[in-house]
Amino acid sequence: MVKKGVIAAAAMLGLLGGCGESTQVPRTGVVFSMNTVVEYKLYGENSEKAEQALLDMFREFESRVSNFLPESDISRLNSAAGEQAVELSQTAFDVLVRAISLCAVSDGAFDITLSPLERLWNITSDGDIGAEGVSVPTRDEVEALLANVDYRSVLLDPGKRTAKLAKQGQAVDLGGMAKGYAADLARQTLVDNGVSSGYVSIGGNLMIIGKSPGSGLFGYGDRLYKFSLRDPRGGVNDAVATIELTDTTMATSGDYERYFIGEDGVRYHHILDPMTGYPANAGLMSASVISPDGAYADYMSTNLFVRGREYALNNINSLDCGIILIDTDKRIYVSKSLEDAVRPLDGKGYTFEVVQ
Ligand code: AMP
Ligand code: MG
Repeated sequence: MVKKGVIAAAAMLGLLGGCGESTQVPRTGVVFSMNTVVEYKLYGENSEKAEQALLDMFREFESRVSNFLPESDISRLNSAAGEQAVELSQTAFDVLVRAISLCAVSDGAFDITLSPLERLWNITSDGDIGAEGVSVPTRDEVEALLANVDYRSVLLDPGKRTAKLAKQGQAVDLGGMAKGYAADLARQTLVDNGVSSGYVSIGGNLMIIGKSPGSGLFGYGDRLYKFSLRDPRGGVNDAVATIELTDTTMATSGDYERYFIGEDGVRYHHILDPMTGYPANAGLMSASVISPDGAYADYMSTNLFVRGREYALNNINSLDCGIILIDTDKRIYVSKSLEDAVRPLDGKGYTFEVVQ
């Protein structure tokens, strides 16, 4: 469940610090929330209050949109599939509206009603080969559930603030964009509470406010926050590049976060292609997206991963975001907009190219 890329990013951030750091003491923490590891570093006048507001916000968000909490709005919506409309909190309604609008522009690659297939595949942790309950489903099983996958079956009534799933057996899973959406809420909450600089890492999604404060001594001014990009075939702390960011968000989707290797040697991972019902297999090991809009970045990284190498490469400089792709031949491609931000790390066996 836990996305290790986050830990790597955060750990590397620590390593990448150094002399000239600010004498201001940041408020830092690592908590398990929204079914993933959340790590943060906050600078501000009243960072204790900001931290509390952040954690309260995450708790509230999780209680509304989680698939794992049976009483959440989304779980209630799923339980009533094909039967009745369910009244939603404003939070859950807003997330659903945004999620559906993202599904609508993805050309079939991003669909929040894949949940029953996610459950069938049951890909829950890293490399759980032979673990109980982990096996490749039959094509018939996949096709039976795929027939019900269609985000247009989520029927919203804004007047009553209700939602209904058209058919029995359908279910919504916001996992492909919820962390990015939460990153946007985190920014709002922290800025409202006086945080002037910091970052929050939510299971693979980063949200960055301002710059890392320098000491001001010996010319050490504020610097961009620096993170690492995980090696998709390496260990938790293996990185292939560094990236410097400010006032934005970054989301990464990869085939190494939750997967198992089948008896056929195939890597079965958690990002499914809604066209086939099988794990997306279109030439990428990871896709990272940088955008000030966290929900969009999260959606887009999943969307690009599903659409695959060719589509992503063809559009790397025309989509409204920064993009880093790592393909299955260990080639790293970076959009022009990130030319100055990304630096490859040598000796990792990857080639590196800024696409012009
Ligand atoms: P991410 O790590 O943001 O790429 O999200 C992956 C998660 O999104 C999975 O664990 C599923 O919960 C869900 N998901 C998987 N495939 C898709 C898809 N094609 N469209 C939307 N959500 C998906
Ligand atoms: Mg995503």
